[in-house]
Amino acid sequence: MDGNFLQMAIVGYGGMGAYHVNLAHASERIRVKGAFDINASRLRLALSHGLVAYPSFDALLDDKDVALVLIATPNDVHKALAIRALEAGKHVICEKPVTLTTLEFQEVLAVAEKVGRVFMVHQNRRWDDDYLIVRRLQQDKSIGEIFHLESRVQGANGIPGDWRHSPAQGGGMVLDWGVHLLDQLLLLDRSEINRVYASLSYALGHEVDDGFTAHITFTSGLTAHIEVGTTNYIKLPRWYVKGTEGTALIADWDLSGYVVAPDRQAEVTDPLPIQAGVGLTKTMAPPNEDAVVTWPLPKPLSPRVGFYDNVAEVILDGAEPMVKNAEVLRVMNLMAAIFTSWHERRAVENIDRLI
Ligand code: NAD
Repeated sequence: MDGNFLQMAIVGYGGMGAYHVNLAHASERIRVKGAFDINASRLRLALSHGLVAYPSFDALLDDKDVALVLIATPNDVHKALAIRALEAGKHVICEKPVTLTTLEFQEVLAVAEKVGRVFMVHQNRRWDDDYLIVRRLQQDKSIGEIFHLESRVQGANGIPGDWRHSPAQGGGMVLDWGVHLLDQLLLLDRSEINRVYASLSYALGHEVDDGFTAHITFTSGLTAHIEVGTTNYIKLPRWYVKGTEGTALIADWDLSGYVVAPDRQAEVTDPLPIQAGVGLTKTMAPPNEDAVVTWPLPKPLSPRVGFYDNVAEVILDGAEPMVKNAEVLRVMNLMAAIFTSWHERRAVENIDRLI
């Protein structure tokens, strides 16, 4: 490693591992040197991509050029690989979910601290534009104070792949997608979590959850509904956000959506009653057209730098990580509370105090 440049090696050259080559090369300060995978065909693929194909994990760790190791294997082996890499003196980036349990993560952090190496988790969806639009709405207060939000991802393709079906390998949708949505939520509200009530879905008959819903309340007053589904032939919007002065809807990752807010200039005009089923209602009638304004969604908040630029500045310049381990720990703890809530069929309280 020269002072301004890092060489990285990838462990687990599967779908995500291979994708990381492009992600890493978005930073001019990181170059991917090679990869190791237990699957020979994936190693050959790495070679065909111009990378060094290490014959073993030890061979990768022995490469003195490599200062940074990215772990993109199935979830159950993250911990052991991370500890070996850290003990070999490497800095480590690990895919999400970082480990299967909070305790395992704490073990990894203890090793990172002992050896004085950087350990960062690839919580990449902090850079997603849909989430950054919600951050913008929150920061600008354009719909007032956000007091309720619903964040959903829904597909109709079941659980993909093989190891994602296995409890032992850390399969299931809480760990796979929940980790992203919960990470975003805990950045949107840093107050203490009051309680969580969760329900897991086993509609496809696998041993792992194929989706879940979680209702989470915070001491700030925010309430959140988080939902992941893999059996949704009709999707609900990606985000539904209620503020004291308006409502925002983000339909999908294409960022279609809009904001509706009361028109401050308008003379308040009562809605007209509508026929609803066999009854009449004014409460549930749409607001009078003159009483509201509709805006396009705001531009996403711009992150200061990309994930890998931040990794480089953390390791080479001692900058602050944009994904902090304490934040990841809170997410791990919240996921543990979700599992407890489901298994014990009860709400779990005081989650932050359990860390
Ligand atoms: P995958 O099955 O496509 O790839 C995993 C690879 O790891 C395979 O090639 C496999 O042979 C290899 N492997 C397994 N055990 C190994 C070991 N002990 N040593 C070396 N290689 C080993 O899975 P994937 O979809 O690429 O997921 C990998 C990781 O990336 C998971 O932790 C997953 O949650 C994460 N992921 C993150 C995102 C994201 O957006 N952050 C997206 C997809 C996957």
